[in-house]
Amino acid sequence: MGTGLGGSGVRGAGGVARAWSMEAIKGIPVSPGVVIGRALVLDDALHYVPHRTVAQDQVARQHERLEAAIGAATKDLEQDRDRIAEQLGPEPAKIFEFHLGMLHDPSLLEPVRASIDEDRVTAEYAVAKAFRALSARFRAMDSEVFRQKTNDLMDLDRRVLSKLMGESEDRLARQTEPVVVVAHDMTPARAASLDLEKVIAIATDAGGRTSHASIVAAALGIPVVVGCQRLTQYVEDGDELVVDGRSGVVVVRPDAETLEQYRRDIERIGDYQLRLREYAELEAVTKDGVRITLLGNIEFSREIEAVLSNGGDGVGLYRTEYLYLTSKTKPTEEEHFQAYKECIELLAGRPFTIRTADLGADKYTQEQAEEPERNPFLGLRSIRYCLQNLPMFKTQLRAILRASALGPVKVMFPLVSTAMELKQAKLVLNDTMEECEEDGIEFDADMPVGVMIEVPSAALTATTLAREVSFFSIGTNDLIQYTLAVDRANERVANLYTGAHPAVLQLIKMVIRAGRRFDVDTSLCGEIAGDVEFTMLLIGMGLRTLSLVPSQLPNVKRVIRSVDIGTCERLARKVGSFDSERQVMNCLREKVQEIVPGMDGGRTAG
Ligand code: PEP
Ligand code: MG
Repeated sequence: MGTGLGGSGVRGAGGVARAWSMEAIKGIPVSPGVVIGRALVLDDALHYVPHRTVAQDQVARQHERLEAAIGAATKDLEQDRDRIAEQLGPEPAKIFEFHLGMLHDPSLLEPVRASIDEDRVTAEYAVAKAFRALSARFRAMDSEVFRQKTNDLMDLDRRVLSKLMGESEDRLARQTEPVVVVAHDMTPARAASLDLEKVIAIATDAGGRTSHASIVAAALGIPVVVGCQRLTQYVEDGDELVVDGRSGVVVVRPDAETLEQYRRDIERIGDYQLRLREYAELEAVTKDGVRITLLGNIEFSREIEAVLSNGGDGVGLYRTEYLYLTSKTKPTEEEHFQAYKECIELLAGRPFTIRTADLGADKYTQEQAEEPERNPFLGLRSIRYCLQNLPMFKTQLRAILRASALGPVKVMFPLVSTAMELKQAKLVLNDTMEECEEDGIEFDADMPVGVMIEVPSAALTATTLAREVSFFSIGTNDLIQYTLAVDRANERVANLYTGAHPAVLQLIKMVIRAGRRFDVDTSLCGEIAGDVEFTMLLIGMGLRTLSLVPSQLPNVKRVIRSVDIGTCERLARKVGSFDSERQVMNCLREKVQEIVPGMDGGRTAG
């Protein structure tokens, strides 16, 4: 995903001279809606410092800010030194003495001061550039002593930058008016913890439409645009912004005419949403009477309200990893159970599919890991992680089993890539069932067990996996990334990331066919399930259950109620004969416009 320490903002060559005129920046739309609001730039001292230049008359001010930050960091270090000396003795406190010496070393500070004068950059940019350049030099020296110095330097870098930039969460908490959060990147955990009373939209430089952070951000139900690449270089706190979550455009400092146009759009969207409400109450049935089951994807139990008010039939994907992301410690069995129980009660007898923890890659484990993986999306993620952390896995399974006694619960395993993994996961589930039995815990012994199909190897061997499960749920978010070798979270290759690629469609077809042959219920829960351009195609390919972002349920229903199965099947056959994703996409777009004129193309309709 985005740049880490020493990212492109720090190394960037050009920099953006700030212009006070309007800028319209194109990103990737994630969650629909349009808002107008003031920016709060949550650049995080830990991650990214944008390359901002300042006017000549601001140079002295940058020096003042630098000296104030060094003064404040010095004070903190002295306090830490004294506290540790008192608690643990003089020896452990020496490290702070060493950091104090380093922080006041002219060979470290002179390049920072020179950069402010010569490059006319902000104090934070000058600090990040100088500290990180020196730490890169230390790292390259390949000696333990210097490696340790690298850590010391990064620690100082963080201390000084947090004085200059403020702690993001504190700054958000201090806001009295709602703001548009602008950040270089978002982690799922940070998105999950944003205060919805304070945040009306999110716009980031990095990220892709289906990156996990984007999915969580979209679950907040506010407009979200990601992948704007250099947005943070153009925006400052307090700037007026328009965030257009339909087209993925962020307008910085809009002029009067643009503002007026967007105000009219906001009114129109409000009317459209009202009209769409009526679809929420209608059945998802095609013109020729075929009922399609529409379920919701949720990250938090509170989203069930949105599933139900938008007319969903239940929950097809509960992403339970957010129980881990929102807490500092791993959730206990009781915490899992309470979360599931709450959902079951809200769903009142409707189906509820719980996915076991899909940790790893960009979710949770990298931040905790002693040694981050080189390629985490191909690493210890999802079911692999669970199978290597059995106590944690069993804790969750016990809670799921307990919940199964309360309502129609199904369980599914994510990112299975071999039949052996699936068998192992089922063995662990069986063991857990036996333990529950011994402990006198009630559960549904016939709880349906399913598998997500998210890896090409799983799709290609779907007939083997079919013998082990009662349902498949096709996860196209990952299936696309692994089939096309395109990181779903990387804005730089976002143009290559598409479910319309013939290879992806072939794999989906194989899974549906295997499901039919072995009588395994097959549904799809990737983001394309909520994209109205794909609705007819997916039905035409044979799917009768889709699980999607709750806000899109009425839009998808609207398409379903406007077509018959024959039209969908003809479309699927036609699209199956194309050999480029562009042809596929054009055809899907044309068809949806023909069937539902005036519908705004993608999932961002409205
Ligand atoms: C998917 O991969 O399509 C999916 C639904 O899972 P997630 O987005 O949580 O990886
Ligand atoms: Mg997935």
